[in-house]
Amino acid sequence: MSEYGAPSTQGSLGRVICILSGASRGFGRSLALQLCSRFLPGSEMLLLSRSQDAMRWLAGELGQSCPGVSVHWETADLSTQEGIARAGTAAKELQGHQTADRLFIINNAGSLGDVSKLFVEFTDPSEVNKYLFFNVSSALCLTSSLLKTFPARPGLQRVVVNVSSLAALQPFKSWSLYCTGKAARDMMFRVLAEEDTDLRVLNYAPGPLDTDMHKLARTETGDHELRMRMIELKTDGKLIDCKDSAMKMVEILQADSYQSGAHVDFADEDE
Ligand code: NDP
Repeated sequence: MSEYGAPSTQGSLGRVICILSGASRGFGRSLALQLCSRFLPGSEMLLLSRSQDAMRWLAGELGQSCPGVSVHWETADLSTQEGIARAGTAAKELQGHQTADRLFIINNAGSLGDVSKLFVEFTDPSEVNKYLFFNVSSALCLTSSLLKTFPARPGLQRVVVNVSSLAALQPFKSWSLYCTGKAARDMMFRVLAEEDTDLRVLNYAPGPLDTDMHKLARTETGDHELRMRMIELKTDGKLIDCKDSAMKMVEILQADSYQSGAHVDFADEDE
């Protein structure tokens, strides 16, 4: 294990600085709850999204259930340069870099894009660029600036998570933007893992979740067959509870045995 290896504290994730995007609802909200409960007192959590009320509410909940963890939130539209800068500034205000055992940068925020259209209907480059800016460029630049804000030091394990999808690996008809964005993100974070072998990098695919995003997929997907498959997942009760998938991700982080840069799916067998 390198000098930047995992802390030895058992049963918890140690004293952590965590920056979590897309924390207001869905999978991100569940992740915040699951992660915080494993943080030692003195840890800090920064929640990011555009929804002030939802984050204020969540911060209150976390404050009650994890009183030793200092919870902060910042409204930031990560589809804009200003939003990325706001998130970076909020992270600079966190105090615990010198005492933390672990840094988690969790890129969870994402969007489905317009899934009503097939490939040949995307003729406006600005629409495509806008999608890729939020789902790819923004995650890259925010992660980079956070890694600069929290440089490596002995005793600190730095972990970067990309919330990925099966769509990073498999094409789905009428999801050209989503599949492209997810594939690009996986590769981007694989490159990061190659470049910095002291970092721990995880591409985690949470499985089909019962969230607003999945509702959009069920109602908007242009490809009839895929839309029916999405509807069936819901009606057959096969969608995964966000809490279960968040718990699995936290267990993977805790076990710390994945290969850095790997794509790990909720459905993968435990090693
Ligand atoms: P939701 O649409 O339910 O939530 C998306 C989150 O991202 C919200 O917190 C939202 O906050 C935030 N967000 C959206 N747009 C912006 C923006 N412009 N700036 C900042 N934050 C933004 O999605 P899920 O919880 O379902 O998805 C979470 C992650 O999991 C995504 O990366 C998704 O691709 C992935 N995933 C989801 C699956 C599913 O079945 N749901 C399956 C596989 C992967 P707000 O609107 O408040 O800003």
